[in-house]
Amino acid sequence: MEDRPLSERVDVAVIGAGFTGLSAARTLAKRGAKVAVLEAETIGWGASSRNGGMVLTGMKLGVNKLISMYGRELTQRMYAASLATIDCVEQIVREEAIDCDFSRSGHLEVACKQKHFNDYARQAEVVAREFNHQLRVVPKSELSAEIGSNIYYGGMVDEVSAGANPARYVAGLARAAIKAGAEVFEHTRVETLQRESYQGGMGWKIGTSRGTLWAREVFVGTSGYTSKATPALQKKLIPIGSFIITTEILPEALACQLSPRNRMIYDSKNFLYYYRLTPDRRMLFGGRAAFFPENDQTVRRSADILRRGMIDVYPQLRDVKVEYVWGGTLDFAFDIMPHAGQLDGMYYAVGYAGHGVAMATYQGQKMADLIAGDKPDNPFVGIPFPAAPLGLYDGDPWFLPFAGAWYKFLDWVS
Ligand SMILES: Cc1cc2nc3c(=O)[nH]c(=O)nc-3n(C[C@H](O)[C@H](O)[C@H](O)COP(=O)(O)OP(=O)(O)OC[C@H]3O[C@@H](n4cnc5c(N)ncnc54)[C@H](O)[C@@H]3O)c2cc1C
Repeated sequence: MEDRPLSERVDVAVIGAGFTGLSAARTLAKRGAKVAVLEAETIGWGASSRNGGMVLTGMKLGVNKLISMYGRELTQRMYAASLATIDCVEQIVREEAIDCDFSRSGHLEVACKQKHFNDYARQAEVVAREFNHQLRVVPKSELSAEIGSNIYYGGMVDEVSAGANPARYVAGLARAAIKAGAEVFEHTRVETLQRESYQGGMGWKIGTSRGTLWAREVFVGTSGYTSKATPALQKKLIPIGSFIITTEILPEALACQLSPRNRMIYDSKNFLYYYRLTPDRRMLFGGRAAFFPENDQTVRRSADILRRGMIDVYPQLRDVKVEYVWGGTLDFAFDIMPHAGQLDGMYYAVGYAGHGVAMATYQGQKMADLIAGDKPDNPFVGIPFPAAPLGLYDGDPWFLPFAGAWYKFLDWVS
């Protein structure tokens, strides 16, 4: 795909070939736009191929916090959008026949403290009343039907969430975008963006590692890998490392004991663990073991930390071999919310804070509709998008060790 010369002129240049960019490219191309996806590495190289494959409802922030930030009406629209994101993924998977083990297995949040569990009942009540959505609170005495671990104080299930193989999903999304007519250029890093006219129209002159092209509009979907090519956006995002180990293939009886309903599971801490069985019956166990983005050192250290964490949760896995470890970078906005809209004249959708599989797909689609001239309902467009407090950030996350220590402290006291 990288050998073809770059197109000279397109309607929309999409930066980044992850869920966000490819979903937008698919929708735009289906609507007849000439689209070039510019990817610095390869299709799905960023977080989209490396994540836990949890297709989750809700947002990173809890519902009470959301209501306090945005009020009831806007939070209702956000929550409804978060439910629609799962349908959006399911529909694309069906329509494009993407073989990615998509399954509505539901998610389970587990409480690390009694007070976290006490809060589940309050949350479930608010979600039922305000958003007409049912969450099921599971007391400790019934938790063994959901998870083969007895370290938790109870859980909360959302049956609507799903699981998928993310690498297969992003590859399928790329095939679908290409089938719809989009061009994907791998190994094409965007280096400069300049507002410039061309053949009588205003647009963007885009300098890449493989030459220059001109686009009427630019859509940025670079998430945790956002760079100095889009400096205003980079200053609003904190890149945070997340890491995953997977075990060898487990005997069927053991796998069934660990996760009898095959849920997507995560715990109630800030410095959380998330885990699930893979379709080939490995335990996939992830967490923000180190806050810094992935490199040889953070991946190696994370493997040890995550293995210890996994054995704390599941002592049954003490003698099981860990066969794979990897890491990736996700993006946090300073308010831990997804954001979409226009900045410096460019369209963007970012800030998924570890809840990106479904939301990135959805935002790609919604932003494509906006670029194409529709007025789609998107409650994440136009909400305040804060910069760093006191402007103390230029895209170099020097404060990550302090942030990591702060979250560990919060987990200790709250
Ligand atoms: C280890 C890990 C586990 C996760 N688990 C889950 C999970 O279970 N559930 C969930 O919902 N979310 C999860 N996430 C988050 C989720 O993966 C992301 O939110 C989502 O993939 C973001 O997709 P994206 O397309 O916006 O960005 P990405 O997939 O990160 O893609 C961005 C792309 O932009 C490219 N790029 C950057 N700069 C340039 C440039 N200048 N020129 C050209 N290309 C450029 C990069 O090369 C990259 O390929 C996880 C993330 C990680 C790292």
